[in-house]
Amino acid sequence: MIAPRSQPIWLVAIVLPAILPALLGCTPAPERFHSARPLMGTVVEITLYHPDQDRARELIDRAFAEMERIERLMSIRIAASEVARINREAYPGPIAVDREVFDLIGRALEAWRETSGAFDITVGPLMQLWPLYRAEKILPNDVQIGEALERVGFDLLMLDPESSRIAFKKPGMSIDLGGIAKGYAIDRAIGVLRGGGVASALVNAGGDLYALGLKPDGTPWRVGVRHPRRPEELIATLEVHDIAIMTSGDYERYFLKDGRRYSHIVDPRTGFTARGTAGVTLSAPIATWADALATGVLVLGPDAGLELVNRLPQVEAAILSEASEHRLKLTVSAGFAQVFRVDEGKLAY
Ligand code: ADP
Ligand code: MG
Repeated sequence: MIAPRSQPIWLVAIVLPAILPALLGCTPAPERFHSARPLMGTVVEITLYHPDQDRARELIDRAFAEMERIERLMSIRIAASEVARINREAYPGPIAVDREVFDLIGRALEAWRETSGAFDITVGPLMQLWPLYRAEKILPNDVQIGEALERVGFDLLMLDPESSRIAFKKPGMSIDLGGIAKGYAIDRAIGVLRGGGVASALVNAGGDLYALGLKPDGTPWRVGVRHPRRPEELIATLEVHDIAIMTSGDYERYFLKDGRRYSHIVDPRTGFTARGTAGVTLSAPIATWADALATGVLVLGPDAGLELVNRLPQVEAAILSEASEHRLKLTVSAGFAQVFRVDEGKLAY
């Protein structure tokens, strides 16, 4: 039993912490919340700082739901997706398509122009030819590659922005948004968080990410970039905020045959899988844009790739290419030199 005399002290002890923030005119300190879900062929992690647990959890759920919605709309591996329907019906077409998908195809068109055709979402026929997702690794021959190439090219896609209608000019064409949709999903997730008043968050889809704001203690987000040839190691650690960082590589999805590496990125100019560049880490203010450009720069390689990056405002990149057997070469744009720092020793593997 508490003596009556001590009651006021207990009251103060209970009431004061509750009203103190209001008295001081400040809200409770933000806490860190984190959640991970399998999505888009990887694990997506959302980290954010927020003073209110229920609100934080609600916003994380909404951001994930938004990314899931985009995957259902745009994945070629989901038969009911809008992109799968386009691939079934756009020849001879034209067909009216979902406005959001149409607009993303418009962004892909910009990337196609900027990368001189290295980034091209019409690579579907080539993606089906290379046996990345088949057990039997039979390589296509030159005739097959030549035939597939005739059905590849953004100029074979007819787009009508007025009515958001699409048509394929040739039968057997197909589009694949795998090189840009993840970036778009990240941008949309960040949009949900920002719209909900979040000032500090990281949306990380297996190393492809957007860092919103600084952490509450004023420090930047620290994010690792995997070593392209030593999967257990990082090649660099970046400190970033308010920027998208996207990495395209030949080391996450690929197959080996007769000692050669075949990546999941194809060169739309030759029909072969992209060669010579192990990884591209690229930063830009928008993840959609960074995603497409990273894929395009991987196809272009270090020289043409760096030239492109230098030409584009607010875009920086680090390109790791094969210098010789067991040795990588780092090509880095001026604005990234201080951010993407690699120990010389790490380039040998
Ligand atoms: P990841 O999905 O591993 O992050 P990317 O963003 O580089 O990698 O995208 C690779 C995907 O892009 C491929 O799986 C394929 O769907 C698609 N793709 C392959 N080659 C090209 C290309 N030249 N232009 C546009 N998209 C491509
Ligand atoms: Mg990409």
